[in-house]
Order: sequence, then structure tokens, then C-alpha cells
Amino acid sequence: MNIQLPENVKSILTILSKFGHSAYIVGGCVRDHLMEKKPKDWDIATSALPHEIKKIFRHTIDIGIKHGTVTVVMQRCNYEVTTFRIDGVYLDGRRPKDVTFTSDLEKDLSRRDFTINAIAYNPNTGIVDPFNGLKDIQNKIICCVGDASFRFQEDALRMMRAIRFSAQLSFNIDQNTLQAISLLSERLGMVSMERIREELTKILSSPNPKALTLLEKTNLWTHIQREKSFYGNLEQASEWLKLCPKEPAMMYALLFCDKAFMCHMKFDNHTVKETAIYVNWLKKFIANKRYSVKLALNELGHRQLNNLLILKKIINPEESGHWEDVQAIAEDIIESGECFTLKDLAIDGQILINAGIPPGETMGQIMTGLLNKVMDDPLLNQKEILIKIALNLLD
Ligand code: ATP
Ligand code: MG
Repeated sequence: MNIQLPENVKSILTILSKFGHSAYIVGGCVRDHLMEKKPKDWDIATSALPHEIKKIFRHTIDIGIKHGTVTVVMQRCNYEVTTFRIDGVYLDGRRPKDVTFTSDLEKDLSRRDFTINAIAYNPNTGIVDPFNGLKDIQNKIICCVGDASFRFQEDALRMMRAIRFSAQLSFNIDQNTLQAISLLSERLGMVSMERIREELTKILSSPNPKALTLLEKTNLWTHIQREKSFYGNLEQASEWLKLCPKEPAMMYALLFCDKAFMCHMKFDNHTVKETAIYVNWLKKFIANKRYSVKLALNELGHRQLNNLLILKKIINPEESGHWEDVQAIAEDIIESGECFTLKDLAIDGQILINAGIPPGETMGQIMTGLLNKVMDDPLLNQKEILIKIALNLLD
């Protein structure tokens, strides 16, 4: 079998072998290539030690050097070149205590998580596939390298990765591997929420979000949720997600993740807030009336209202017509420049003060009152008229 490699990758492999080292592309790029997908990046594994890699290539970066990874920069592209390694004992259910380097490719492949990720290739040797990963790719199976229970005990994140790959590739999970996840699901507690969230988000944005239901079947979901309440329905959400843009705030809104749950998953404030807004507004009705749409625009802004309407249509396809009306009204309001926020008013605080309205709380109430009137009747949005109404409101 012949894999067409990018010129830079070919050069790196050739240069390493000229210096007497063996070198292969390995992992995701080989898997993707064998599935006739375009690889995201090209990872290279080699018998050369990190200091040797650094000596051979002119431009390198040290970021992952502790784990044996040197980034080689070639024509402004980065390639991770990692020394073959054997992982030491795993103490915390997540990472090996130490790693040792080896010149044995097979040992390096044997520490990898799944057979489909444990295939190496170079143009001279061809495919190196000691764990029959190619067969598993053909049969669309995710299967651990070695004993599944043992591998998940070493690193509990692999349980999430199994389901994530099943979602991304639309592969089944091998029976033994799946059973081992159910058996060891509790160990997910040893994994940081950030890493769990990363995998979960990949599952949500995958072509096969139905794999979400495996989280429940294996009981992993209990250990993601921990003691937090969750009001969503994974089975239902997995149907909706197929239609959803791949925006985290929108996807997690379809799981009805509230503020507490989003914080629990260690999302950034911005995403926590935006998701909570969608979840909150998914429970509300917006009438197809200009005034109601302006209220929604005022609280949500144009972008978030558009996103909310997409979500509404996904959840209630039978109401699509209504939500399209609302959307058309929103577009029309924006286009005609009609006012829906305080800053669109033809007056501001200073003008009102000059007209004799005292600053402070009353001013706030009067401004909101004016906005309400103008949202109802755009023709009122003129300085003189608004001052008159303001003075009336003051009485
Ligand atoms: P993606 O396309 O999502 O990047 P990938 O297979 O490249 O998929 P990475 O997380 O980038 O996945 O890891 C690269 C390779 O390193 C994997 O293919 C696998 O061989 C190995 N690997 C990564 N994480 C683990 C892990 N937790 N345990 C064992 N091997 C792992
Ligand atoms: Mg990768």
C-alpha cells in the first residue's frame, strides 16, 4: 500500500533515516488516510531521541519535549516528531508516572489506545499494523490495544475517547471494550472536567451524535454529571444535534444545560452565559408582533436571536412557519433601523438632564419608559417629542 505524503513529511522521514533512525507517520493521520479522509495533521514517530531530532533539524520548538515530542518547523508548517516510547506505570488513572524511550516501534504502537490508532507507515516499510487496526477500520470497530479493562484502568480518559471516535467515525465499539467501559465507568472521576468536556463537545459536533446514548448505557454520564442536576434528554438531543450548527452554546442549549451545569463543566463565562440565555428563551414564546420581536432583540441582540430561532425550529419543526415569521420581522426591524435599545433613542441622559429630569433612578425608569413607547411607535423617536413624554412621565 502506498500513502501519498506531503513533501515536508516525506523530507522529515527521509532526513531522519539518512541519520540512521527509523521514522514513521503514525496515529490519526494513518487512520484518516486509510479511511480516505484528509488527515488534520501529520504526526511522526521516530527512534531518534529528542536531542538528536533537535540537532538534525534547523528549526524546532520544545513545547512537548518532556514527553519526547519535538515540533519540527518546515516551510512554516509544524510537525510533531515524537520519540518511540514506553509508558511507565499509571498511578493516578490518567497519566504515566514516567516514560522511557525505546528504539522499538512495536512497543510504541502497543501503548496507543485503539487498534485503529496504532498503525504506522513509511514509504520504505509500508504499513506496520501489529494489532490489526486495518481490519478494524474495515469492520468499523473501535477496539482497545490489548486488554480493555487494563487500558482503561491506566487512563480513564480513553473511555471518553472510545465513544468520541465512535461518534466521529460512525464506528461501533467492540463488545469487550464497551463492557470494560461499563465496568470501569466510575474511574471517569479521575479525569479533569476540562478533558471530559473537550471529548463531549467533539461528540456533540460529530456526524453521529447518537453515540451520546452510549454515555448513558455505559453509565459514564452519571460520572460526568456527578452530583449536579441535569434536565436534558440525551437521546432526544442526539436527534436535534444533527441539525444544529457546531457552536458550543447552541449545542449545549439542546441538552438544556443550565448555568450551574455549564459552570460544573468548566466552560468560560461567555459560553456559560450564552447557553443559559438560549435555554431560558427556549422556554419562552415570542409572538410574531413587532413589539415582541423588539423586546427579544433588545435582550438577545441580532446574532443570538437568529441562533435562538434556529434552535426553536430544530426543537419544534411543526412551528417552523411561526419562527420564520419572527425572523422576517427581526430582519425588517434591523433593516429599517427601528429602535430597540436605549442607545438607539433620539435622546440621551444628558439631554434629559438639560430638560430638567433629575439624574439617578428616576432617569433610568424614564429612559426605559421612553424605549417602550418608541418600540411600540417608531415615529415617536424624535428629540422634542421624547422630551415632552419624559416630562409627562415625571409628573
Ligand atoms: P484526532 O484526529 O482527533 O486528532 P488522533 O488519533 O490524532 O485523532 P490525538 O489525540 O491527536 O488523536 O492523539 C494522537 C495519537 O496518540 C492517537 O492516534 C493515539 O495513537 C495516541 N493517543 C492519544 N491519546 C492517547 C491516550 N489517552 N492513550 C493512548 N494513546 C493515545
Ligand atoms: Mg491528532
